[in-house]
Amino acid sequence: MLTKDQAICIRVVDYSETSQVVTFFTRSSGKIGAIAKGSKRPKSSFDGPIEMLSRGRIVFAGSNREKLTTLTEFESSAGTAGPALLRKDLFNLNCCLLAAEILNSLTDEHDPHLKLFDSFGEFIENAENAESKSEMLALLVLFQLALLKEVGLGPILDHCINCKAIFDVRHPASQLYFSSSANGLICKNCESAFQDKFKLSKNAAAVLTNLRLLAETDDNTLAQIEKLLVYHFTELTGRRPKMAKHILVS
Ligand SMILES: [Zn+2]
Repeated sequence: MLTKDQAICIRVVDYSETSQVVTFFTRSSGKIGAIAKGSKRPKSSFDGPIEMLSRGRIVFAGSNREKLTTLTEFESSAGTAGPALLRKDLFNLNCCLLAAEILNSLTDEHDPHLKLFDSFGEFIENAENAESKSEMLALLVLFQLALLKEVGLGPILDHCINCKAIFDVRHPASQLYFSSSANGLICKNCESAFQDKFKLSKNAAAVLTNLRLLAETDDNTLAQIEKLLVYHFTELTGRRPKMAKHILVS
């Protein structure tokens, strides 16, 4: 049986001289692994080798959850320059590759997330047009928070997860921490009860408790929030995302 779907390539490895193994995040079937036989031959039914983050319509065989399905068609969406456009800006490209890596590590095969598919598509489109580092980082932070929410891991950011106190980030003595095991923010009074925690700057705390501020936040604060999210993903998945070193300086 052949299945048609919309898909975005989130991982690709060479399988042989002429073939690739591709992980697609699809709209209706969730994540799937497929072998694209002959995709690296000059003439194939895939318009050449399949690239990371390319987007389009796929047809694949065997919807029964066997490990690897066979890709029979891939047609990239008309008008989406996708990877070619992103490659013009290495930082934007790396941010998209990090997002794809995290998406891959936090989703299961054949577990559809329609909303997440649409958010990921929008994220890539916005990344293609992001004109500054801060704009790109803000998009990345928002996408990662949306991803966590969609997979049922949305962190608590509006009150202390331990004592339930509502934060006043403007208070001079206010100091907030993020704990991965608690999956949210903790206040100064409660932080000693948590082994794993990430100390936040005033600005980062202000943004995390009020995400509307993201759009007007400086690079340093955004980088600190991204560092926090990388720490969180490392704790969640047991390994640091490989692409993180290309985005975070330290
Ligand atoms: Zn507390």
